This record gives sequence, structure tokens and C-alpha cells, in this order.
Amino acid sequence: MSATIIDGKKVAKDITEALRHEVEALKAKGVVPGLAVVLVGENPASKKYVSSKEKMCESLGIKSMGNKIPEDSTQEELMKLINDLNNDPKVHGILVQLPLPKHLNEKEVMHAISPDKDVDGFGPDSLGRLVLDEPGFLPCTPHGCMKLLEAYGVDPKGKHAVVVGRSVIVGKPIALLLLRQHATVTICHSRTPDLKETCLRADILCAAVGKAEMIKGDWIKEGAAVIDIGINVKEDGKLTGDVEFEKAKERAGFITPVPGGVGPMTIAMLMYNTVEAAKATVK
Ligand code: NDP
Repeated sequence: MSATIIDGKKVAKDITEALRHEVEALKAKGVVPGLAVVLVGENPASKKYVSSKEKMCESLGIKSMGNKIPEDSTQEELMKLINDLNNDPKVHGILVQLPLPKHLNEKEVMHAISPDKDVDGFGPDSLGRLVLDEPGFLPCTPHGCMKLLEAYGVDPKGKHAVVVGRSVIVGKPIALLLLRQHATVTICHSRTPDLKETCLRADILCAAVGKAEMIKGDWIKEGAAVIDIGINVKEDGKLTGDVEFEKAKERAGFITPVPGGVGPMTIAMLMYNTVEAAKATVK
């Protein structure tokens, strides 16, 4: 059996096309959704991510407001910028592209973004709401993973979901969202002793490690849904995920490719959160 390949580009496009209409409806009410993107320094990967977010905004009619500040900006300068954006009514969402240069305190910046504008969903209010099962901005990549499962009819209810990785921005929120959808969730990390055996028991396997093809094809349960969040650059410059895709797809029921799986969903869900933030300002 060969798995159904989950087409993240298509699911992302369906989501953004629906958003296009919502943006038009907001504009008719005099509200232009605005996303402020903060980029500190010249990290090439960050610049690339910011540029694709800006392009997506443009294509949907969302106003993208670039705030590019120098590498040697101080914490005070960055905090002042966040404060200005918090107080700017034209800005509905604030995204600070991570990682920040080493001398800056990321956590303090995440805490400073107004909860109403926290479209990345990394602030304490958004993450607290996620834990409390209250409405709020969901982190984009985890939310995108759930949308992929939904689009392919994979219902987590009653399933055993295994999440490999426990970061605050990916692993932990995915685990919470799967739990919200009534999966029984196991979270694995670098100290998990029996990783292969645990993965083999996964009906849904989410890999968010950041190590190229670490999860081998023979770790996949027959028929499992495999969501590969990892983005790793190989020596030849090509991208690969955390899962050994070619072998895993012979056993999985559904699997995301890298690229073209989770990646496009992250931007789509960022656009979704920005539109939601703008909608919340309409009286
Ligand atoms: P982090 O480095 O923050 O977290 C990695 C996690 O993997 C940690 O919890 C770590 O465990 C765990 N881990 C590391 N080595 C092992 C191992 N040998 N066995 C089991 N677990 C291990 O990464 P992120 O969560 O930020 O990102 C994960 C991947 O997802 C990266 O490749 C990143 O590029 C990608 N990514 C993709 C996005 C997309 O849009 N598609 C968006 C965001 C990230 P421990 O906690 O014990 O150290």
C-alpha cells in the first residue's frame, strides 16, 4: 500500500481563497486587515520567510507593513516598536520573525505583543487560552497540521497520537490540539527511551524534531497518518523532513511531503489569524 500524499499547497490555497472573500467583506465595511511584520537584522532564512508572508498578504489584499530594523537594535528600541504597533489602529496583527539576534530577549518581546494582535499565537495569553480550551489565536503551524488532518478526513477522536518534539511553538501546541480533538496523546522528546516502539503505536504521528529523516520508515504503523513538520536543509540544498518519506509512504495511510506539506499551511493560518484579528475590531 502506498500512502495518500497530503497536498498542503492545495489545502492552503482553499483556505486563502476563502479568506480573500472575507478580506473583501471587511474592506466593504471600511476595515483593511493589516499585518505588521518585524524583522531584526539580515538573517537570510528570516528574510525569505518574511518576503513570502508579505507576498501572500499582498495577494489577499491584506496590508503588510514591513518594519525592518538593524541587527544591532537594542531591546529598548524593539520594545518601543512593539508598543507603537500595539497602539496603531491600522495594525491588526503583529508578527516578530524569529529567531531574534542573540542579544535580544525573545520572551520579553512575545510577552509585550498585545493579546489582540498576537497572530503568531506565541504569547502567554494565546498559549494560556489554548491550554484552557478558550477561543484565541492558535499557533499557525500546529493549527495548520490540524487543518490538514481535517481536510483528509482523519478524525483524531479515539486515536493514539504521538508527537515527537515538545517545543512551545510546535510540539506542545499540536499535542494540546490533538487532545482537544479527543486523541490519546503521547509526547516524545530527546529523553524518550523507546522512541521507535512508541512511534509504531501511533495512529497519528507528528514529527517536529528538526533532524533530517530521523524517523525511519519502519517506525510507522501500517495505515497511520504522518504529519512531518520538520524542515531540514540537505547538503545539496534540497529540503527534507524529519521522516524518511520514501519508506514511510509505503506503510502510512496519509503522509505530508516536505516541501509542500505543512509549510504552506503555516502562512495560510497566519493570514487566517490576521483576518480574525481584523474582524474582531468591527463593531
Ligand atoms: P526545537 O529545536 O525547538 O524542538 C525540537 C524538539 O525535538 C525538542 O523538543 C527536542 O527534545 C526534540 N528532539 C531533539 N532530538 C530528538 C531525538 N533524538 N529524539 C526525540 N526528540 C528529539 O524545534 P521546533 O519545534 O521549533 O521545530 C521543529 C522542526 O519543525 C524544525 O525542523 C523546524 O524547522 C520545523 N518547523 C517547521 C515549520 C513549518 O512551517 N513547517 C514551522 C516551525 C518549525 P528536547 O525538548 O528534549 O530537547
